[in-house]
Amino acid sequence: MKYHLLVLGCQMNMSDSERVKSVIEEMGFIHTDNEDEADMLGVLSCSVRQKPIDKVYSRIHKWNKIKNRRNVITFVSGCVLPDDKKKFLKLFDFVFDMSELNDFPNMLKEYGVVTPMSLQSDLGKEKNDDFNIDVEKASTSFSLNPVKLKPASSKALLPTNKNIYKLWNVKPHYESDFEAFVPIQNGCDKYCTYCAVPYTRGREVSRPSAEIISEVKLLIENGYKSITLLGQNVNSYGLDKEEEISFAQLLEEIGKLGNEIQNKCWVYFTSPHPRDMSRNVIEAIAKYEILGKQIHLPLQSGSDQVLEKMNRKHNVDTYRESINYIKELVPQATLFTDIIVGFTGETDEQFAKTMASFDEFKFNMAYIAMYSPRPGAQSFQWIDDIPKPKKKERLQQLTDKLESFSGKYNQSLIGSEIDVLIRTTERKTGYLSGHNEGKIVTRIISKDTLLIGQIIRAKVTKASGFSITAEIVE
Ligand code: SF4
Repeated sequence: MKYHLLVLGCQMNMSDSERVKSVIEEMGFIHTDNEDEADMLGVLSCSVRQKPIDKVYSRIHKWNKIKNRRNVITFVSGCVLPDDKKKFLKLFDFVFDMSELNDFPNMLKEYGVVTPMSLQSDLGKEKNDDFNIDVEKASTSFSLNPVKLKPASSKALLPTNKNIYKLWNVKPHYESDFEAFVPIQNGCDKYCTYCAVPYTRGREVSRPSAEIISEVKLLIENGYKSITLLGQNVNSYGLDKEEEISFAQLLEEIGKLGNEIQNKCWVYFTSPHPRDMSRNVIEAIAKYEILGKQIHLPLQSGSDQVLEKMNRKHNVDTYRESINYIKELVPQATLFTDIIVGFTGETDEQFAKTMASFDEFKFNMAYIAMYSPRPGAQSFQWIDDIPKPKKKERLQQLTDKLESFSGKYNQSLIGSEIDVLIRTTERKTGYLSGHNEGKIVTRIISKDTLLIGQIIRAKVTKASGFSITAEIVE
């Protein structure tokens, strides 16, 4: 019996999917990329943008057609807004919060679904070759908490995060054997006006530090080369609990683990919030070799007025203080950021300030998005008054500026020797692809796929706006 899982959205969903797969495979299901041969079809949804939600609807429409021909189970979980959840309840067999994942096997059992594992334990009692669903029960939309799901009020469907600890206790089925995500926190308390995450994932909850440290330790011992600590606001880690250590202390603990190993490994984190970027965090990055010298600090806009409208709780001055401290203590660190252009009401002068911030901070990489109103976010009610061509123009102007600075930085690497983590093959034959410690995309002239998953030494020979090319040093 097979299952197919569609994962939409960000790295957080990717990371959650590793635990979802674990739970489903524990029940005896085998993963398939082909939904036509799957007995269970699931999706980890993302309500933060409209596009993935449209994808969920088109997919469930298709899956329900399959359901008319044969027995299949459908489920949806992940980042789901209360309003979407209400609609999904009519379309999927199972709708559950990520914090309810551990109870998924019981939900199936309760609704009369026979899983491969239960079939195995039933062998000897009665032979049953067919995948068997109590269709009447399973076709009823279901959630762990039916009382909450019945009322029309979407408020009752808000995620509580109460049992998120159970999710973290699931041993993940890591997708890769050399790079891994480690969730350290779930939810968000910041309520940026353009973002729906606090309404899909709930309030911030920090994972127990002992658990994080032991997961990171295990990964390091197993030879992982790149580990990313994940959360919506990683550097507010621990603030929700009096007895928990801070994010800087967590980095210290991981730094010490790194000092005990011989092999090379880089530990990154994403995303921190500028408001919580304490000096201690930067000091820890400077102090420990294992902490990757790449910092992703989302600025979002170079205008204080726009930042205020976004409810970002930081301004350009405080952002500058953090960057200056990073440049002082970790001058070799590369800087990444996130920017939104064309936020509601953004004037030419305000955009010019974002352009100026690029001149000042000289980012190595920026993920620049054109603003689009997101259902569930506060700004959804505001007029999206910047025309799309204007947004596109601003995006292009910023991208050009970014490329000129990152290109210059990349040029400065020519002739130097660097460590590169080889991740995959390049589309162009004869090349492998990976990144250096600063996460600059690096093309390596080699066909040796056995190098994938290893950190090798290479000499930079060429550079372009967003990547470098290097030759392996014997
Ligand atoms: S900090 Fe802002 S952008 Fe990030 S998840 Fe929270 S609300 Fe969304």
